[in-house]
Amino acid sequence: MKMTPAMAEAQKNMQPGVITEEGFLGDESIPLSDMIARDEAEMADAGLTYDETAEKLEYFLREGQRGLGEPVTVDEKWLIRVVDPRGQLPCPFRDGFFHKITAEITRKSTGEKLVVTDLSAHLLREHRFIEGRGSGFRLEPKALKRVLFD
Ligand SMILES: [Zn+2]
Repeated sequence: MKMTPAMAEAQKNMQPGVITEEGFLGDESIPLSDMIARDEAEMADAGLTYDETAEKLEYFLREGQRGLGEPVTVDEKWLIRVVDPRGQLPCPFRDGFFHKITAEITRKSTGEKLVVTDLSAHLLREHRFIEGRGSGFRLEPKALKRVLFD
């Protein structure tokens, strides 16, 4: 994958302290295009598509809001707790603003959790970016598979 000027700009915006305190890149400093290409392979290895995964994450973000901050059971298998600190964040690719809403998704049978935000679901769907390794909001493909689909 080629690094475009838009990607280079986005990667600058992903550095710590630009949009969020911790940034989006975790411990990684390789080009964004290389991260995305590597993670496309990891998504494929886990048997996931970006669209299906984004739909599921967006569904849990929506359903979880019914709890108004309290955990809600969704489709019997998942416990979702949504926190909405209000406010918005811009996408690092500068194509929109997203609510800071965060959903903690717990697979009840295993207790495994993952955390998704409005913005991280958007980054996955529109930019095929799941955040860098070491980022607290990275959507690790194998974890997505275990928590959302298995
Ligand atoms: Zn965007």
